[in-house]
Amino acid sequence: MYPRSDLSKLSYVRNRVALPIAILGALLLPLGFQTSAQSKGPSALPPNRVGHVLVISQTKGFQHDSVPDAMAAIYDMGHSTRLWETTMRTDTELLTKTDTREMNRKSLNYFDVVVFGSTTGELDLTDAQKADLLSFVKEDGKGFVGIHAALDTNYKWPEYGEMIGGYFDQHPWFTFNAPIILEDPSFPAVRHFPKAFVKRDEIYQPKAWSRDKVNVLLRLDESKLDYNNPRVHRTDRDFAVAWSKMYGNGRVFYSTLGHTKEAWDDPDIRTMYFEAIKWTMGMTEGSTASHPKTGGVASSGTPSTTR
Ligand SMILES: [Zn+2]
Repeated sequence: MYPRSDLSKLSYVRNRVALPIAILGALLLPLGFQTSAQSKGPSALPPNRVGHVLVISQTKGFQHDSVPDAMAAIYDMGHSTRLWETTMRTDTELLTKTDTREMNRKSLNYFDVVVFGSTTGELDLTDAQKADLLSFVKEDGKGFVGIHAALDTNYKWPEYGEMIGGYFDQHPWFTFNAPIILEDPSFPAVRHFPKAFVKRDEIYQPKAWSRDKVNVLLRLDESKLDYNNPRVHRTDRDFAVAWSKMYGNGRVFYSTLGHTKEAWDDPDIRTMYFEAIKWTMGMTEGSTASHPKTGGVASSGTPSTTR
């Protein structure tokens, strides 16, 4: 599921400041990656070490049954490919840049990516911790991945909403067979999806969200939704399912997919988050440029319901 060839890309990215190794890496890699790896993105990881991923799943509101499944999936992705080591926490103690060697406690300085795995509500964070997490992405150029209820989190912290791209505003159709359109087939985390497909999941309606501020990767097919529903608030009928964006120097990925336990057994969903974490670590390249709606019935014919 996770090709070993990723290892050569990783070592290439991490060593790209070392010219001889970079040249060797370039010879081993497809032209597309070689070119795009030169573009602006997160700073390269130090050579000869795997990535460090911190999964936070503190829940101060709704507690998803799928939290352990999401945590285990992310651990397994990194472990089976040797691309990253995963630290999993349901508290927020490590979300700080204050280093201490006491009791082997790690800090944000150790990690390359923070994943919020269906966190909910107002997390236990001091103002200093909030500033450190924002700086981790914005100034340090490290990664942030939001899974499902990460959007249902930190409403009283506007900069968090700005970083992730918005906030949860109901799930008008609860868990349903969601008709989804692929908008950016070039992006590594979604390129494995067909142009149109159906996934059984709980799709959030975002608020304080605009496609002008993100690169929409997946969205609901607005031509196939039930609007006879008081929970539908978006008058533009623009329901993003996944997006990428920059926050300062760092890369941010969010998807509403992953509500159910079953989602984490779905190879498509696992591949999406696997590639998303790789992208936020700078191992692959993908756009964060906003764009008008693309795809859908008009341009792709009859959407398939495969996968
Ligand atoms: Zn949910």
